[in-house]
This record gives sequence, structure tokens and C-alpha cells, in this order.
Amino acid sequence: GTLTELDARVSVCRACPRLVAWREEVAVTKRRAFAGEPYWGRPIPGWGDPEPRVLIVGLAPAAHGGNRTGRIFTGDRSGDWLFASLHRVGLAAQATSVHAGDGQRLLGGRMVAAVRCAPPANKPTTQERDTCAPWLEEELRLVLPSVRAIVALGSYGWDATLRTLAALRAQVPRPRPKFGHGVDATLPKPSGGTFHLLGSFHPSQQNTFTGRLTEPMLDAVMARAKEVSDV
Ligand code: SF4
Repeated sequence: GTLTELDARVSVCRACPRLVAWREEVAVTKRRAFAGEPYWGRPIPGWGDPEPRVLIVGLAPAAHGGNRTGRIFTGDRSGDWLFASLHRVGLAAQATSVHAGDGQRLLGGRMVAAVRCAPPANKPTTQERDTCAPWLEEELRLVLPSVRAIVALGSYGWDATLRTLAALRAQVPRPRPKFGHGVDATLPKPSGGTFHLLGSFHPSQQNTFTGRLTEPMLDAVMARAKEVSDV
């Protein structure tokens, strides 16, 4: 398969009844500020360079962000932080990501969500996580050959990446490297060679409002990703 085929198949996935109901309900009721806009209301495909050097793995699309705009991290507060940081270090063409036609580009990078449909309260169940895992496996199988760094956002993105590598039969070391902000683990690819798995706190409002994650902290991880990837 190709990424285009993967995107076509994932965009019509209805495997999780609770998430299908939620993503579609949100797309009909909408948030007042976006009442006049169409909502995507479907699974969010990976976005960016088809042969990325840097891959960013997030949790799931936001109900009024990616689930509205159809592009991951686009049109929500987490994305505001993420794209501003990527732009500061030279991994994104623009500092903001507002809608799918805004001209934003990732420079040598790609983004994907571990769970591709917006979950209520941003919390997928374990069953939903596992149901969506094959899509991430397929995406990583296709893009890992060019990847030099994966930035995992939060322990959710970190664990999803490690589980996916194991599913792809990469020789993940035991004990598995533990998530932390700024952790840099060298891991084997299934097809040979290695890449850096970099941990970052998720730029959720919970982390950014409280100061648990600051702009310099996020920039440091993104700059490291750029440095080890030769972008
Ligand atoms: Fe399909 Fe994943 Fe959405 Fe579940 S979360 S419906 S598996 S795309």
C-alpha cells in the first residue's frame, strides 16, 4: 500500500461506535464561534512530508480542532503552541495553522495521531486505542525508512510509538525506555538502522497554562529533533 491508499481507507473508518457518534455529533452541533463553518467530522489522516525525517506522534484530534478543520493540530490551542515552536526552530513554514488551505507546510516533517478520531474529553478507551493501532502501524511501516526522529507528545504518544514498533517487530530494548520531557532514546527500526525517540510533554492547555510545559522546553525538543535529523 501507499500513504494515499492508507489515507483513503482510514478516512472512512467507522470501527469505534462511540468515537464515530462523538465526532459526528460535534460536527453537527459545532461550537458557536464556528457555527457558520463546515466540520470535517471524520478520522484525521497523517499530514506532511510523505518521506519525513521528523515524525510527530500526538494523541487524538481535538473536537473543534482537527475534527473541524480535517488537518491534525490545526485550529486548536495545542496546535497553536506546536506550530509556533516548529516555526521558531525551522520545521514549519508558518507560525500558525488555522485551516487546511492556509499555506502552512512542515519542513521535512509529518504529524500523526495515535487515535484518529476525536474522543470525548480527549480520552480514548483502551479498546479504542487498540482498534486504531493498525492504522498507526501501517503509517509507521510506510514512513519509518526515512525517519530520523520521532517526537512523542506525552506518554500516550510515547507508549503508542513503542507498541507500534513492537508490532512491526523492531527489537525494542527491555526494559522499554521511560517517557519524560527531553528524553532521547535511540531505537532500532524494523527494517534496520536506528532513529531517535524524543519525549515532550504534550502542549495541552493543562500543561501550558500551568507552566509544566514552557515555550523554551518545547523548542529544545523540537530543535533536538531538527539537529539529529539534518533537516
Ligand atoms: Fe477508525 Fe481509529 Fe476512528 Fe476508531 S479511532 S473509528 S479505528 S479511525
